[in-house]
Amino acid sequence: MTFQLDILPVKSWLPNIDNPLLVAGPCSLESEEQTLATARELVKDKRVFVFRGGVWKPRTRPGSFEGVGAVGLEWMKRVKEETGLPVATEVANAYHTEACLKAGIDVLWVGARSTGSPFVVQEIADVLKGTDSVVMVKNPMNPDLSLWMGALERLNKVGIKKLVGIHRGFSPYQETKYRNYPGWKTYIELRRSMPNLPIICDPSHIAGKREFLYDISQKAFDMGFDGLIVESHIDPSKALSDKEQQLTPPDLKTLLDKLIIRKHHVANSEYESKLDMLRSRIDTLDAELIEILSARTEIVNQIALYKKTNNVMALQIDRWTKMMNDRVNLSSKLNLDPVFIKILFQLIHEDSVRQQTELIDKEEM
Ligand code: PEP
Ligand code: MN
Repeated sequence: MTFQLDILPVKSWLPNIDNPLLVAGPCSLESEEQTLATARELVKDKRVFVFRGGVWKPRTRPGSFEGVGAVGLEWMKRVKEETGLPVATEVANAYHTEACLKAGIDVLWVGARSTGSPFVVQEIADVLKGTDSVVMVKNPMNPDLSLWMGALERLNKVGIKKLVGIHRGFSPYQETKYRNYPGWKTYIELRRSMPNLPIICDPSHIAGKREFLYDISQKAFDMGFDGLIVESHIDPSKALSDKEQQLTPPDLKTLLDKLIIRKHHVANSEYESKLDMLRSRIDTLDAELIEILSARTEIVNQIALYKKTNNVMALQIDRWTKMMNDRVNLSSKLNLDPVFIKILFQLIHEDSVRQQTELIDKEEM
């Protein structure tokens, strides 16, 4: 189901914007010198449109640097005066939000930990009611699309029309090479569900390490993100938070130079007809796939009835292990990603067991 937010395009609040929307700045403001030195370097790159910096830092565990607090808002005012860049910071309660409004912070963002709490989002929304603030909303820590949409709706309901979504990945439940797993499908669902919402990607918090920033940022542009929010620090080796993922302003420039910004479409008849032809082949193959799945389901039902007649259980672990190994081996020979095939067959098998148990347990009429 799609949900049309009542929003204004980015151009209405950032008149100089030229795609993509790039927000950059340190994870945390640490001192006036660090803040201004970073901003002075970043503003030299005309692709940076907004300066970011955390003032109140929600750390997962207490004991590490938790931000400089309200004094950072004064440094943000100096950044604005000196560089002319709009400034952005995170708010996580009514007090932060009031302080930012008073200090004239141009863009507020709701962090991942806050988006997961409708109480917090409502508290922020209540303070913002009647203002024409710009608010960016990060995805919640877990891939819960409703919480993300709910936060955007709450803000929109109190009249906030300058909204942006930020995809920053999800808290991993197992070891991954990234700090947060990208979970692109939740981004795709948000795109589908809120088609007029601008959405930017936060490669810094997905990556957790500088070495992965390029891959994630390029992937973001390949998937139609409207921009990026990237952490940049004048001297990352001295950063008090997120040291490993911050880029110096010159390294940010190098990253941006390397990235290719894709077009949504090209109006070229040769391109269009070739794409149409390839898409129609995909449509045919998908129809065949569905027919094959339907034929497979019929056989699953026959097996279920046969097992029932013989009073045999639906789940047969040995058969399942052998099946999975065979499918994964075959997929490797055919150049398919074994991880993908594993996930696909887990889904197919899960559904097959569900159907079998339903049939076996069905009362005879
Ligand atoms: C941040 O952007 O500095 C931050 C704390 O991010 P997140 O809410 O995505 O963890
Ligand atoms: Mn950070």
